[in-house]
Amino acid sequence: MLVLGCRDQPPLPPPDPPPPPAPAAPTPAGGRFIASYGVASPLYRQLRQSLMASRLLDTLVTGLNDTIRVRENVVLAATECGEPNAYYRPEARRVSLCYELLDQLTRRYSRAEGSDLLIAGTFAFVLLHELGHAMVHLLDLPITGREEDAADQFATLLMLREGAVGDSLAFAVATMFAQQAESVAFEDLAFADEHGLDLQRVYNILCWIHGRAPERYPEVVREGWLTEGRAERCPAEFNRIRASWRRLLAPHLKVRSDSGPIPYP
Ligand SMILES: [Zn+2]
Repeated sequence: MLVLGCRDQPPLPPPDPPPPPAPAAPTPAGGRFIASYGVASPLYRQLRQSLMASRLLDTLVTGLNDTIRVRENVVLAATECGEPNAYYRPEARRVSLCYELLDQLTRRYSRAEGSDLLIAGTFAFVLLHELGHAMVHLLDLPITGREEDAADQFATLLMLREGAVGDSLAFAVATMFAQQAESVAFEDLAFADEHGLDLQRVYNILCWIHGRAPERYPEVVREGWLTEGRAERCPAEFNRIRASWRRLLAPHLKVRSDSGPIPYP
């Protein structure tokens, strides 16, 4: 089973006492986002080289450092973990992307139609999802509802900022979750998980793609991927999610334009 992050991460520390009612002051600068490519055993050395050549982490870190103020250094690390996973560890302020996850994705999708998109989309989504958790912790953002859903929102919003390529990656993520939903035996305890069910994540991502520009991909509704009722409300849902994330991040931005670099959703 493809594990998409967070399942075994330590719980977040207890919440701080409620903040005073005064408007939030800008976060003092002082920290930086740092990309790291950890040592890999021979099995994953080629993957490490490919990942470094893609400059995925470096590009994201540059965008983050141009955009977000953080108090302390935060590491985005590709690393060998002993399992195909990804997680954010708040005590270390570290997002870990496991070489084993990239290896698993490559093995799973290398012969699938649209394999490059499936691999790149899933890996990027996992990275951005964990970055969403990091933002909630580092910036002490108030989140009601499930943080896992908020992290999915954050990841999808950032993908959909990247034009047609980002749209294709987001569709690939929905495809990945749909395939995973077909391949995983359903258990009652799935309802107890902090993540949405795979099919719920499919429909959420498609709703946000549709809600961002309903005229752009009419096949989402025409082919029955969304109910009429949900589809009608997706534009409002998307706009509310985007406005909420913008408002939450606003006190921590170095740039204030919504046309700024990633990761401003
Ligand atoms: Zn998560």
